[in-house]
Amino acid sequence: MNSTEHNTQHIDHIIIGAGPAGVQLGYYFERDQKDYLILEAGEQPGNFYKKFPRHRKLISINKRFTGSDNPEFNMRHDWNSLLSDDYSLLFKDYDKEFFPQADSLVTYMQDYVNHFDIKVRCNTRVVNIDKEGALYRLTDQNGNVFLAKKLIVASGFLKPHIPQIKGIELAENYTEMSIDTKDYENQTVLVIGKGNSAFETADHLVSSAAIIHLCSPNSVNFAWKTHYVGHLRAVNNNVLDTYQLKSQNAVLDAEIMSIECVNQRFKVLFKYKHAEGELEELWYDKVLCCTGFAIDTSLFSEETKPELTIKDKYPKLNNDFESVNQKNMYFAGTLTHSLDYKMATSGFIHGFRYNSRALNTILNKKQGEHYPEVTCNNEDVAQLVLDQVNESGAMWQQPGFIGDYFYPDGDKVHYGFSLPINHVLESLAKEKRQFFTVTLEYGIDADFDPFTANRIHRENVAASDHSQFLHPIIREYQGTELVSEHHVIEDLLAIWKEDIHLHPLQSFINEAIRLVQKTEELA
Ligand SMILES: Cc1cc2nc3c(=O)[nH]c(=O)nc-3n(C[C@H](O)[C@H](O)[C@H](O)COP(=O)(O)OP(=O)(O)OC[C@H]3O[C@@H](n4cnc5c(N)ncnc54)[C@H](O)[C@@H]3O)c2cc1C
Repeated sequence: MNSTEHNTQHIDHIIIGAGPAGVQLGYYFERDQKDYLILEAGEQPGNFYKKFPRHRKLISINKRFTGSDNPEFNMRHDWNSLLSDDYSLLFKDYDKEFFPQADSLVTYMQDYVNHFDIKVRCNTRVVNIDKEGALYRLTDQNGNVFLAKKLIVASGFLKPHIPQIKGIELAENYTEMSIDTKDYENQTVLVIGKGNSAFETADHLVSSAAIIHLCSPNSVNFAWKTHYVGHLRAVNNNVLDTYQLKSQNAVLDAEIMSIECVNQRFKVLFKYKHAEGELEELWYDKVLCCTGFAIDTSLFSEETKPELTIKDKYPKLNNDFESVNQKNMYFAGTLTHSLDYKMATSGFIHGFRYNSRALNTILNKKQGEHYPEVTCNNEDVAQLVLDQVNESGAMWQQPGFIGDYFYPDGDKVHYGFSLPINHVLESLAKEKRQFFTVTLEYGIDADFDPFTANRIHRENVAASDHSQFLHPIIREYQGTELVSEHHVIEDLLAIWKEDIHLHPLQSFINEAIRLVQKTEELA
């Protein structure tokens, strides 16, 4: 076909983007023999990682050794592999570093696509998304048309998020700035932003720049303190030493009022946040803008534009990963992070790989299939809960966001796996009189300092709801109402196999089920 001949293809499911999220979903579509195609703008899957992170070191950990040969457990410490039912093709075989190279992920993703025969059409950039009746009508850069019943947008973040600062256009953006340290030798550099891309950039420049300032209005948040992996990771925070140990660099909590270019240098006016509103003007040779990314909505027509949320960075989604205003338009990958923003890990591979799997399950349910569930006797469910909290990758990686559920049915219990908890609450509340959710969650203590905190004694099960570290929480619902909850006490090794874990849980479940059954008998 020459470039002027255009083609129209009808496909049930079209995924835009062969990043880790689109490819992960493709795996499940391929497995379940769905009619689907992934359209990818780049020459190969994993296009984002060919350029980003700019300094090429991933911050998703590659823990090759855990002491366990349980492949599901090992996914708790493998943040880069995509899921597969047989756990074949793991990222640890592609890179030995704990913080691996981005190029290794690109190679891994290409191999994953080939290995599982995932249908990706590369060099196909969707330039317009419109409607044709109930179908989505996608047009690529060559004028080819794709009609889809269901559209899954897994196009990631390609548009820089630019803060509203007078003169911000004078700053070089993270996406295009030089990463050659020679360009920064003896320079005074302002890095705008305090996320990982800002600190990664500053870290890269410590050996060449004369002075580095990082600035944003908000104070830095540490991932090791908040448990949120999007906050500053220790691997990127070397520059903090150079601030507090007086090596000319600094981290400023300030609003940038303006940036001006004067004789090829930059005059920047700051209003400090913690200094009685003090204003100060400082001069820089370079200003770098490292303030994150946002969804690019330019390819949507007016009719198909999804509603946005969180400073217009993310699409607003319902609990099925579907746009709140565009029926049959679903999202996958980092764009699903609006559902657990700053709470869990949907912005990152180790989180959203489970969202892609859950989305496939949800779509199957909409087609009339049942959720994958197992059935056991009432007295065995507590042990099943513990088996899951000891092993499940999804629950561990997506704390409080993805979990299991179960509901009684006579003297049996049906147990289901790894769905977004809000989705479970919404769907089971309609169908079941009594049901339970199972999640792993941290204790809630806003001012928690992990290095000085007092903890409860490991056998003080009466106080297990004061557990601070990740621990299992089982909640009982009747319809939409939360009736009771049980915490399994925190454990240093996160292994819940002892009687102090099992027996109180067993009593909680038995009692709750018995009470409802008794009430029903009396009614
Ligand atoms: C600087 C930076 C560093 C990061 N580092 C990490 C990290 O180390 N580990 C981690 O887990 N997460 C990291 N993240 C989060 C990161 O966004 C995600 O891990 C990941 O890339 C998102 O995956 P995705 O599949 O949602 O989107 P992407 O990986 O961005 O994939 C989207 C794909 O869609 C394609 N595409 C886009 N638009 C179109 C179109 N119109 N038509 C066709 N194809 C299109 C793109 O070419 C791309 O291949 C980082 C994010 C940033 C910004």
